[in-house]
Amino acid sequence: MMNKERLVLSSPHMSNEGFEQEYVQEAFDTNWIAPLGKNVDEFEHELVNYVRSQNGAALISGTAAIHMALKAADVKEDDIVICQSLTFSATANPIIYQGAIPVFVDSEEETWNMDPEFLRAALEKYPNAKAVIVVNLYGLAAQLDEIVAICNEYNVTLIEDAAESLGTTYKGQATGTFGKYGVYSFNGNKIITTSGGGMLVSNDKEKIEKVRFWSTQARDKARHYQHSEIGYNYRMSNIMAGVGRGQLKVLNNRIQKKRYIHDFYKQELKEFSNISFMPENEWSESNFWLSVVILKNKDTNELIDALDEANIESRPVWKPMHLQPVFANYDYIGGEVSEELFKKGICLPSDTKMENEDLYRVTSVIKRVLQSE
Ligand SMILES: *Cc1c(COP(=O)(O)O)cnc(C)c1O
Repeated sequence: MMNKERLVLSSPHMSNEGFEQEYVQEAFDTNWIAPLGKNVDEFEHELVNYVRSQNGAALISGTAAIHMALKAADVKEDDIVICQSLTFSATANPIIYQGAIPVFVDSEEETWNMDPEFLRAALEKYPNAKAVIVVNLYGLAAQLDEIVAICNEYNVTLIEDAAESLGTTYKGQATGTFGKYGVYSFNGNKIITTSGGGMLVSNDKEKIEKVRFWSTQARDKARHYQHSEIGYNYRMSNIMAGVGRGQLKVLNNRIQKKRYIHDFYKQELKEFSNISFMPENEWSESNFWLSVVILKNKDTNELIDALDEANIESRPVWKPMHLQPVFANYDYIGGEVSEELFKKGICLPSDTKMENEDLYRVTSVIKRVLQSE
């Protein structure tokens, strides 16, 4: 057991063909290392084409992309931003960077994402809210039609955090393209990676151009260094974008493998009634970034510990933001769905480099634990 290689949730997986190295090499050959250059321009085009958006700004992280989306949505000090509670803290932190005030909203069971009825309740309570951030967690699409309609009704800007859902579709349309702004992440654990990076997409060309301006230190058009706005150093480098271009070529393969992993777990564990899987809805095709299960009447720590002993990584579902010490003083609208998912949910290894024997290693531990009632 002990000398077996560690199985992880999700880690970088470069193409067998070496696409990434070719693009990076091209940047070396032309000495276009940083900051901008052909790879950045092309990566923006290629990603935008893939998701069928219109404009993209390649940035150093998904977090930077959320920050720029909030700034583009004119979120300022003391503005209210309504945010899905069940998510990673990077969704919510940029609200604080802008000096704004988050209001957290619960999830619903059908998608594990923002509950449209609680969103409506939040907008009734805070009609002046400047923006809403919905997340497509673990690759699961939110109730996007309902959420878009409610945001339109209340005239509030929708930002879609699609950091985990690149390649997921909702009624045939790519997640990340439903809000006014969409955010993707290419962090090392995401479905494709640039080692670290992100992209902000929008159909509003002017806003994306403005984001490119802010994220390259807000330099006015002048010979000398002239600034009439506060800038950021958020732009992706030409090297990272080269990695991203290569990774985009294998994105569909990665999605296929993620789905295979999910189906494998589901098939292997189907006889157990005390475990269930994350929701699959016929109107959505998930990228299955992580395979997540729910344990009924069993402590999740028992399974996480057993897997860890077999050198297998697993983790609880994201701890909701309204339960985080750092956000304890902000309003929360909802019930206990996100809290229950946190208490009962476990993310299983979903690394696309795993082979069947690795997957059997995982399921054999799970079976042993589930049988020990
Ligand atoms: C990873 C992630 C982010 C942040 O992306 P980075 O590129 O790591 O900054 C934001 N939101 C969610 C839901 C994420 O999973």
